[in-house]
Amino acid sequence: MLPKTAEVVVIGGGLIGSSIAYHLAEKNADVVLIEKKGVASNTSGACDGMVFLQTKKPGIHLTLALESAKMFRDLINVFGIDIEYRNNGGMMVIESEEDLEAIKDFVQKQQKLGLDVCILDKGEAIKKEPALSDTILGATFSPIDAQVHPIFLNHAFIDSARTLGAKVFTHTEVTGIKLASSGVESIVTDRGEIKTTTVINAAGIYAPEIGKMVGLDIPIKPRRGQVLITEEVPKLFNSIIISANTIAVKYGSNPQKPTRGGVGVEQTESGNILIGATRELVGFNKETTYEGMNEIASHILEFIPKLRGINVIRTFAGLRPYIPDGLPILGKVDRVKGFVMAAGHEGDGVSLSPITGALIAELIEKDKTNPPLDEFRLERFPI
Ligand SMILES: Cc1cc2nc3c(=O)[nH]c(=O)nc-3n(C[C@H](O)[C@H](O)[C@H](O)COP(=O)(O)OP(=O)(O)OC[C@H]3O[C@@H](n4cnc5c(N)ncnc54)[C@H](O)[C@@H]3O)c2cc1C
Repeated sequence: MLPKTAEVVVIGGGLIGSSIAYHLAEKNADVVLIEKKGVASNTSGACDGMVFLQTKKPGIHLTLALESAKMFRDLINVFGIDIEYRNNGGMMVIESEEDLEAIKDFVQKQQKLGLDVCILDKGEAIKKEPALSDTILGATFSPIDAQVHPIFLNHAFIDSARTLGAKVFTHTEVTGIKLASSGVESIVTDRGEIKTTTVINAAGIYAPEIGKMVGLDIPIKPRRGQVLITEEVPKLFNSIIISANTIAVKYGSNPQKPTRGGVGVEQTESGNILIGATRELVGFNKETTYEGMNEIASHILEFIPKLRGINVIRTFAGLRPYIPDGLPILGKVDRVKGFVMAAGHEGDGVSLSPITGALIAELIEKDKTNPPLDEFRLERFPI
């Protein structure tokens, strides 16, 4: 049965909401998490598991990712299950002079912020990853990059939160939020109402629906990513690998029509290879398409020809919570007292889930965070 009251209610049982619930429970907060379907039933269950530092924008984005990367190493000792976290490094493959120029500048800025990353020439890159084609110009490499099983991670956060006293209700939908003159008063669900003065919107691509309940316009849109999964094969890669043009596509000024999609590979513990992903603004459509799959397969074969002949056994598409400036929306919203945002992590929600949970829990406990969340506030947009 739903409790009548809670100190904090988290809406959303994806990676972000579950990490927040875990970190709040760790601080002994009276926290309730409400998830309308199952754990990892939306984006967090339809994604890759790259904990990529190199893909983060130099600045506060990278600073948070560096903190998050450190936290993974502690969390694996806390969780009772193996989340398949493997810290084997990551590579961005440079395929053109244009990519090389753009990436040099990006890497220099990242190095200044303390990221251990370098540019390898073609020979050095192929020595590290023999599956790469000799048509490449080179690659970046960072030993800090890692991978994790996102669904196991999501369950690990939920299970650990429950162990610490958080109350988790799945298959329960938040249908409204009641406001009083002092701010949030309660949340209404299809199974009853909970009185609370703090609600955290971690509803991913549905965060705008939750925002509407309190009169806020939240600029998050679903951005589809299609992924191919191959049959199990012996280990083909030492690290996670993406094309360097992913950066231009991810942060480009024309998200609707990038010149060419970024693409990458990640091999799971069981030997399956995930090849993805497109970046398309097609609303809430989760279908995979011939064009999307063909784009991914043809691009990856250009720089990893050894994938030819390996069978694709299934495909899926997930929807990233996309925000035009590439940063999530985090923190309290001035206009609605007690309403806290934690959504819009686009293609970074796996990597940033530990630090997001920790910072939001710190914000609830102390009313401030270190580092401050100023650059992530909803107020950076017209609301
Ligand atoms: C193809 C693809 C590849 C990706 N690869 C990577 C990667 O390699 N590395 C990385 O860091 N990130 C990656 N991402 C991004 C990452 O998956 C997302 O940023 C992250 O999963 C978002 O988590 P979330 O908790 O915000 O959203 P979600 O997982 O969608 O969770 C939100 C939850 O809120 C629930 N909800 C919504 N409305 C309500 C309501 N009214 N009441 C109750 N519950 C509600 C939903 O059911 C949902 O479960 C990828 C994404 C995609 C699509």
